[in-house]
Amino acid sequence: MNLEALEQKAPIVRKLANAQEVSWINPYYGKTEEALRGIDLSMADVEEAAARLQRFAPFIRRAFPDTEETKGLIESPLREIQAMKEELNQSWKAGLTGRLLLKMDSHLAAAGSVKARGGIYEILKHAEELALEQGMIRPEEDYGKFAEPEMKEFFSRYAVHVGSTGNLGLSIGIISATLGFRVYVHMSQDAKQWKKDLLRSKNVQVIEYTGDYGAAVKQGRAEAEKDPYSYFVDDENSVSLFLGYAVAALRLQGQLDELGVVVDEDHPLFVYIPCGVGGAPGGVTFGLKLVYGDHVHVFYEEPTQACCMVLGIATGLHSEICVQDIGLSGKTEADGLAVGRPSKFVGKTVEHLLSGEFTLEDEKLYLYMKELLDRENVFIEPSSCAAFAGPCRIQSEDVCLEYLKEQGIEDKMEKASHIVWATGGSLVPEDVRESYIQKAIETEEKAGGR
Ligand SMILES: *Cc1c(COP(=O)(O)O)cnc(C)c1O
Repeated sequence: MNLEALEQKAPIVRKLANAQEVSWINPYYGKTEEALRGIDLSMADVEEAAARLQRFAPFIRRAFPDTEETKGLIESPLREIQAMKEELNQSWKAGLTGRLLLKMDSHLAAAGSVKARGGIYEILKHAEELALEQGMIRPEEDYGKFAEPEMKEFFSRYAVHVGSTGNLGLSIGIISATLGFRVYVHMSQDAKQWKKDLLRSKNVQVIEYTGDYGAAVKQGRAEAEKDPYSYFVDDENSVSLFLGYAVAALRLQGQLDELGVVVDEDHPLFVYIPCGVGGAPGGVTFGLKLVYGDHVHVFYEEPTQACCMVLGIATGLHSEICVQDIGLSGKTEADGLAVGRPSKFVGKTVEHLLSGEFTLEDEKLYLYMKELLDRENVFIEPSSCAAFAGPCRIQSEDVCLEYLKEQGIEDKMEKASHIVWATGGSLVPEDVRESYIQKAIETEEKAGGR
């Protein structure tokens, strides 16, 4: 389909094709209750995933000592970032009111990114199925047993394959190797060197491709199909990844309660999540909508050159279109978001749940990163800084103000809460951090000491 025809379907395509930053309100956004009726998954599925993670907690606690405090649950802090809110209001004229919070999946145990949710969940589920099938464990047994040498030996007969831009590979690689699987991570050219090095140090086979993420996934899938003892983690279509991410919402509810954050008709909640292929933000969105319904407003953020999800949802073409089709490169400094073709499964699932999208230029990633570091002393990786585009624009751009009015919440924003979902960062090595900070300083200078 040519650009004119696409533009007829969705006028936003013109700006996307020009690599302009957009603030897009989803015309297909609907009432939660109705939207959920059209989705095959339910709260029971998310609760089942949460229960499985609970069963595995004794194993996780033994394998990853940094989960001692959470008793084997891989969970991240939720923290108020008042100083960053002031920064956004000063430097970016955000006009943001209410409370600004940071969900620190950047600091999740075991994998240092949001992928520790979906990725680890999917591999645990696979391991449980194999172990039950082969009589290695009984359902009522203590799952701490998964840390025993006999289990490692058992799993060494099986292989796991995954295609990744980096963080999914880290998460799948680390948990699979810990359980004893042979694991192969098929990496795209965008993947950062330190992520490959870290995986290799954990005995993971890293296979590099000259193509993009899509090419790495395709190759991984083909390799896995050749071997009956192997399992392929399908980032684009996996329901278990999705449910692993969705569990985040159940836990967030408890954390919001603890901080005294109310979410109801008079206290709207806004959540901003960076988006790649869609699995992580999609799963979190689904969970949040199950918990908070119409009171939560979820927005995604993508780089202007890799805006695949907004392109897929706006045109209704989902995985049948990629960013290269409208002349974009798919290349971005945000390695975790460097995806050209969105997941159809996720796009179809969230098309009536998602409030909108913000795309942004790469430069801003570094600026937000440094501001967060300076103001709050928290480091998160550039990809995850995309999330700050949302709070910068939600109360300052006309299309957003219109959305607030339409939703009948424009006069409730003083009592709103905003959650920026920090999706990665704690594993970034010191020297790479330094180079990012250097880049931020150069960007600031170029921007004329904003
Ligand atoms: C993977 C990733 C995302 C987005 O997740 P998708 O499932 O690809 O949409 C966001 N931020 C970071 C840092 C990531 O690694």
